[in-house]
Amino acid sequence: MQFRDLKRQYDALQSDIDKAIKKVINSSAFIMGKSVMELEEELAQYVGVRHCIACANGTDALVIALKVWGIGKGDAVFVPDFTFFASAEAVSAVGATPVFVDVCHDTFNINHSDLENRIIKTIADGELVPKAILSVDLFGLPANYTKLQMIAQKYRLLLLEDAAQGFGGYITETKACAFGDISTTSFFPAKPLGCYGDGGALFTNNDEWAALARSYRMHGKGSFKYDNVRIGMNSRLDTLQAAILRVKLKAFDAYELDAVNTVAKRYTSNLNGMVHTPVVPLGFGSSWAQYTIVLNEEQQRDNLQNTLKASSIPSMIYYPKPIHEQTAYNNIDCRGVDFPITEKLCKTVLSLPMHPYLTASEVDQVSEVVVNALSQIR
Ligand SMILES: *Cc1c(COP(=O)(O)O)cnc(C)c1O
Repeated sequence: MQFRDLKRQYDALQSDIDKAIKKVINSSAFIMGKSVMELEEELAQYVGVRHCIACANGTDALVIALKVWGIGKGDAVFVPDFTFFASAEAVSAVGATPVFVDVCHDTFNINHSDLENRIIKTIADGELVPKAILSVDLFGLPANYTKLQMIAQKYRLLLLEDAAQGFGGYITETKACAFGDISTTSFFPAKPLGCYGDGGALFTNNDEWAALARSYRMHGKGSFKYDNVRIGMNSRLDTLQAAILRVKLKAFDAYELDAVNTVAKRYTSNLNGMVHTPVVPLGFGSSWAQYTIVLNEEQQRDNLQNTLKASSIPSMIYYPKPIHEQTAYNNIDCRGVDFPITEKLCKTVLSLPMHPYLTASEVDQVSEVVVNALSQIR
């Protein structure tokens, strides 16, 4: 069994993907070919925002957003402590300082009461200027944007939605990638919408920011290509990846998103009462980048992972280490600040195989091993 079976997806989409790849190769327009613009339009329409700007990866998308806002040295950006490293790395890459915030136990997303405490404390300390909240839609579930938008307004902060894992999620009528002043996603192969290499995109309703993002991704170009008006990056999405993504977006919209939700429902009904299963608040929808259970303690989690492994079932620990404990952040003084929920989650989470092509009998097989193991090692 695969943790995320990309080969099964390719088998299902092979003839369309092969055709799309061939078409790009025949056109020789490998950089900024037609598929890139077509994909941007389709993504903007899917999400329901005015602009989509494709770029080289999800980390660059975050960096470009921060550059568009002129965020840099001396600025504070609030980032959840429980996420993939890139969320914080992008903040440091532009010279700003990430201020880490604890998360909610049930949703794994940024904890708004802790966020407000950190904002107040940062203002009181007076060393950094609070500029933005970088919220992550972890494991496919949008963060609580009603609360986050209120906090952003109250403290006049920009809201950057890191939907690298969140593409396809929603809150009532609004889709992920539409919640931030700027939102970003990643097309890394294992993300909910993945390509066959690296890729990413930004989303915004703001015309001026969209134009700046288009400039930053291409060497800071001005309206005349060989007049570069700012220091930018080389961060375009390859035409080949765009062509592949156009095929995959169709399947994602037509049935893959429904399929992962069917898988998640089946896991939850199989495991309910045995272990803490993922919580999707009322009105929220997840794109299930991960299906993550929470065990009682570290030893139980590690035992379960070993039992699964013995049955040839892959599982992953996302994430084993809080961001504030990463070696690269040794220089940030977190003494006197604690992250009890993040620290507990790092010791107790376990992500199970999850993808749209997982069969009901495979879900039952994984569930059975989990249930049997838990009744023995409880
Ligand atoms: C994957 C990921 C990123 C980075 O995306 P890349 O395309 O790999 O650069 C950023 N934030 C989160 C939360 C992610 O999961």
